[in-house]
Amino acid sequence: MRIDVLTLFPAMFQGPLTESILQRAKEKQLLEVQLHDLRQWGLGTYKQIDDSPYGGGAGMVMRPDVVVAAIEEVSGRQSSSFPALTPQPPLPPFDFAQGKQAGEGGQPHRIYFSPRGKKLTQVKVEQLFRKEHLLLLCGHYEGIDQRVIDGWIDEEISIGDYVLTGGELPAMVLIDAVARQLPGVLGKDESTHEESFSKSLKRKKEYPHYTRPEEFRGMKVPDVLLSGHHQKIEEWRRKQLK
Ligand code: SAH
Repeated sequence: MRIDVLTLFPAMFQGPLTESILQRAKEKQLLEVQLHDLRQWGLGTYKQIDDSPYGGGAGMVMRPDVVVAAIEEVSGRQSSSFPALTPQPPLPPFDFAQGKQAGEGGQPHRIYFSPRGKKLTQVKVEQLFRKEHLLLLCGHYEGIDQRVIDGWIDEEISIGDYVLTGGELPAMVLIDAVARQLPGVLGKDESTHEESFSKSLKRKKEYPHYTRPEEFRGMKVPDVLLSGHHQKIEEWRRKQLK
């Protein structure tokens, strides 16, 4: 899978992408993340990317000419050599005369992060990891000009009902959640099978876990887990789901 990220702060991604499971996904060539500094498409000597809002008010808005130039250039680049996991259903024809060419001719699926978007869930993550190519747009300041969203974005995603300073942390959250679904990314001691929100746990939250020692500071591991009785353990775990 390939993920292109449009951001004003590519350096923010360094830690998460170079450690642990995401680094392993990259080494195994299961995931390729390309970071693009939006400043490259900035206007004039100062590489301006934002401007004051029409109608007045505080804050700055990211300009559509800058952001769309970036989206179009990155979308048009050679698409990934990593195959999609399952063939994608054909996407509907454009909604707009000039935009919404989603999925056409190997176009990436384009996501903008915004508190106004649809809340990210495990069900959404399971849809996204099947895509061959994602393009993630990280907003900053007050956000981006609405015309970009109307014409060039396939979906708006929020990671929760609170406001962050930028779309970078949401992008990292999405990359992490999607990457661990890719077959081969998790090691043999990790699994996406029986975990919170998975289908096998009926989309509920997982049961609690315990390991050695059997007694820790007077707190004991539930007897049933030491019983060796698989059916009883299974029943106990089912009861603990939330
Ligand atoms: N004016 C906006 C907030 C802008 S915050 C509002 O009131 O809704 C700046 C940027 O951070 C946004 O453009 C978006 O890309 C990102 N962002 C902030 N909170 C987010 C959230 N909960 N989920 C996803 N992206 C978020």
